[in-house]
Amino acid sequence: AQHFLARMKTHEALGAFVAVNEDVTLAQARAADAALAAGTAGPLAGVPLAHKDIFVTTDFPTTAGSKMLAGYQSPFDATVVRKLAEAGAVTLGKLSCDEFAMGSANENVAVPAVGQGSATPVRNPWDRTRVPGGSSGGSAAAVAAGLAPAATGTDTGGSIRQPASFCGITGIKPTYGRASRYGMVAFASSLDQAGPMARSAEDCALLLSALAGPDLQRDSTSLDRPAEDYSRDLNASLEGLRIGVPEEFVGEGVAPGVRAALEAALAEYEKLGAKRVTVSLPRTELSIPVYYILAPAEASSNLSRFDGVKFGHRAKDYGDLADMYAKTRAEGFGDEVKRRIMIGTYVLSHGYYDAYYLQAQKVRRMIADDFQRAFAQCDLIAGPVAPTVAWKIGEHGDDPVADYLADIFTLPGSLAGLPGMSLPVGFGEHGMPVGLQLIGNYFGEAKLLNAAHRFQ
Ligand code: GLN
Repeated sequence: AQHFLARMKTHEALGAFVAVNEDVTLAQARAADAALAAGTAGPLAGVPLAHKDIFVTTDFPTTAGSKMLAGYQSPFDATVVRKLAEAGAVTLGKLSCDEFAMGSANENVAVPAVGQGSATPVRNPWDRTRVPGGSSGGSAAAVAAGLAPAATGTDTGGSIRQPASFCGITGIKPTYGRASRYGMVAFASSLDQAGPMARSAEDCALLLSALAGPDLQRDSTSLDRPAEDYSRDLNASLEGLRIGVPEEFVGEGVAPGVRAALEAALAEYEKLGAKRVTVSLPRTELSIPVYYILAPAEASSNLSRFDGVKFGHRAKDYGDLADMYAKTRAEGFGDEVKRRIMIGTYVLSHGYYDAYYLQAQKVRRMIADDFQRAFAQCDLIAGPVAPTVAWKIGEHGDDPVADYLADIFTLPGSLAGLPGMSLPVGFGEHGMPVGLQLIGNYFGEAKLLNAAHRFQ
């Protein structure tokens, strides 16, 4: 813990951490030492890790990257945080993320990072002029730069997989419902899922075993199925494993350097005994409009709780109650969050609900069905995580759609609720890391981690 605390200080310019507290971290580390000495230590005793600042914590403030929650202190720990602590993990601090996890580049940040005077985007450790990806960009940057051996992330439409890919680390988004959402600041509740980000599939397996599992009293969508020992089958043979590559995932839209890294990885898998088959996910392109209707719809509902009454920010000068709500929300939310609230309330409004929200729900089901047809022909699906490597900070300028389009390969699996991971397989344009995305069928986490581990 001391090593990482020192390293965090010399790397503050990356903007990865938004909250640290040495006393808290060292006290947890001493408690882990004592548990080890007493023989009562959990499986992660003394392992330092850091949490995306979207998980509420009692030992550190929680902002979800938003001014709306500046100064907010939770009275309870998120289930994922609690479970990792019970396994003995030591918390190094909280990690920057896009505001309410809305973003693909960790540029939508409204709170300052540790050591920075004002809100700044997180920087990619491989090239500090580039984004780390998002929304779990602080988590990916911290692990890639060696500021933490592992971190938690959340993935609604790609926010674990895409930053893992952009920063050359390993991350897994489990099956929807595999980990509890209790204490995760809600973005789009039918999609939000927590998972680990680390340097290897082996480390991800250790963390996932500790953080997964039912939490039915607190999150009714958590699945009633005990966590597995995800380390058990890491070394299983890949002989005969059918890897399906969707034809829609390897087209013209993928940068040549990304495609080359992908092809090399698939060739490596064939050497490991896997068989490559071509499958089809014909509604891949539709996943963008479907997601960018459904996620904002759910977000607009979830974010209605930030009204200046119960949580965080409240405007100072206001007239009546409606004016207090309006001023609080105008001051507290950033541009991207406001954009999504407007889209969400629009697609849910009377007269537009059938044309947008309902239609999107129907296509969502069709996308999930397409995956089941694909899984009739293969055991795992492989493809790029994103069409390009990490872009330059500011490169997408004021064009949010440029960010949305880059989510094309992570959104289908999210909409279907499937587990997916990113593992580093090489380098593409500008010498930046490229991740391979592996998507499994429901509860296929062990198979994903096994495939990733054998590659690594
Ligand atoms: N980039 C997507 C979005 O902006 C996904 C974010 C996420 O997974 N949290 O919504």
